Amino acid sequence: MTENKLSIANPIKTNAIIKKFKLRAKKQLGQNFLTSETAIDQICDAAELTDTDTVIEIGPGIGALTEKLAQRAKMVYAFEIDESLLPVLADTLMDYQNVEIINQDILKVDLKEFINEKQITGAVKVVANLPYYITTPILLQLLDEEIVFDNLVLMMQKEVAERVTATPGHREYGSLSIGVQSRMDAKISIIIGKKAFFPQPKIDSAVVSLTKMTTNKYQIENFKEFNKFVRSCFAQKRKSLWNNLLNMLGRTDAVKERVRGVLAQLDIPENTRAEQLPIEKFKEMFDLLGK
Ligand code: SAM
Repeated sequence: MTENKLSIANPIKTNAIIKKFKLRAKKQLGQNFLTSETAIDQICDAAELTDTDTVIEIGPGIGALTEKLAQRAKMVYAFEIDESLLPVLADTLMDYQNVEIINQDILKVDLKEFINEKQITGAVKVVANLPYYITTPILLQLLDEEIVFDNLVLMMQKEVAERVTATPGHREYGSLSIGVQSRMDAKISIIIGKKAFFPQPKIDSAVVSLTKMTTNKYQIENFKEFNKFVRSCFAQKRKSLWNNLLNMLGRTDAVKERVRGVLAQLDIPENTRAEQLPIEKFKEMFDLLGK
């Protein structure tokens, strides 16, 4: 097979692209390019892409994942902050008319406005091998944007993926788990070893699938405030929920009485720690105390 016919992710092709454009992966932008076609196919499978889907990609890099997304979806909008990758992407993706590269910092994009402007109809999915240095802000942005994505398939550090998907009683369970899982169903779909990247990162990665809930099962209306409340419940992880609630609300006798009453009403013993409680209990506490 000639080099031109190879997928971008093929290590021979990736190498040739890097040489041709004299590229150096920028560590400060989290540039670890995927060089495993198997991993990319698995990521696309996890997103259950069809030819009516619009995909938003964050950080296309040299286009390895973008290429496969373009082969499966109707349209791909890819946000890349690194201007020096624009000529590379124009070259590597020149055969794909259904890809638009946007040279912007994803954290500065109003995705709701973007989707409206582009008049996107049909399912909108986000697929990305995330720049790891901003995984959490991107996650919060995707969940905060009053948009309901059909699914988000996001590669991140394995350790962060474990926090995102953790359930009560586990060491990794915390405000990030609750922030994400109160909005979308979350699971780890694939574990991807370091060898699937160039340059190789120090740690393994995992692909998290976040899927739209069929119903707003927790009936949370103000996610920003809810997340703030949850973060305060975990502020001092080793302390009891009681202590964290008093730190948040004040240590007056009136507050103590109110908190005691609410905990009793919800059958939560005073020595409980936040990491033991399911999302439903946070929602109930938020309704009674947080607002
Ligand atoms: N998708 C490619 C792949 O899988 O081979 C590259 C993924 S690499 C882990 C992350 C990409 O995100 C890099 O191309 C990097 O330049 C880009 N990036 C970093 N910060 C960004 C930001 N704030 N907004 C948009 N793209 C960003």
